[in-house]
Amino acid sequence: MTLGMVILGRQGSGKGTQAIRIAEQFGVIHISTGDMLRTAVKEGTELGLQAKDLMDAGELVPDSIINGIVQERLQKEDISRSGFLLDGYPRTVGQAIELRKLAHENLKLAINLEVSIKEVTERMISRGREDDTEEAIARRLELYEAETAPLLEWFTEAGILCVVDGLGSETEVYARIVKAVEKAIL
Ligand code: ADP
Repeated sequence: MTLGMVILGRQGSGKGTQAIRIAEQFGVIHISTGDMLRTAVKEGTELGLQAKDLMDAGELVPDSIINGIVQERLQKEDISRSGFLLDGYPRTVGQAIELRKLAHENLKLAINLEVSIKEVTERMISRGREDDTEEAIARRLELYEAETAPLLEWFTEAGILCVVDGLGSETEVYARIVKAVEKAIL
């Protein structure tokens, strides 16, 4: 049985940075659906063409598309050997249901990196990423509350949610997450 984890958190919560470090520390494979989609857009694949406008507008890519990509990735052999840390997935209840089917009892922990809407908005405006227009930021946060926040309850019911305070330096936050992971895999 391998170690499967997910990290949730609003856009700008720092989850991507932390996910990379945590995956390395615990020897699991970091899977970022945002990175996969951006690569597809850059390479101009069919998937990229389908996703680009939605991403630019801050909208979600449909579950039917994203579930297929994640399913394909999780079925690769490296995952059954090393385990995974999903970053940016699941983002809707439909995706969470799919993940439960795909990961079964391997899913051990859902980390929620908690940072307020006010704080993440300030962070995103100052980082100036290409898809970080003010409208897109507002739309992404709105969708997070509507579609992704309900997953917190879902993971609580599954008994695997751990809330980590995302305020503080990168190192401080990292130490908190490490503690949560260690506790979950003991
Ligand atoms: P952010 O956290 O700022 O939204 P990501 O890199 O996680 O950045 O994702 C970028 C974009 O890719 C999202 O705004 C969305 O359009 C799309 N995307 C990524 N993951 C998913 C997902 N699980 N479901 C639907 N769309 C997704």
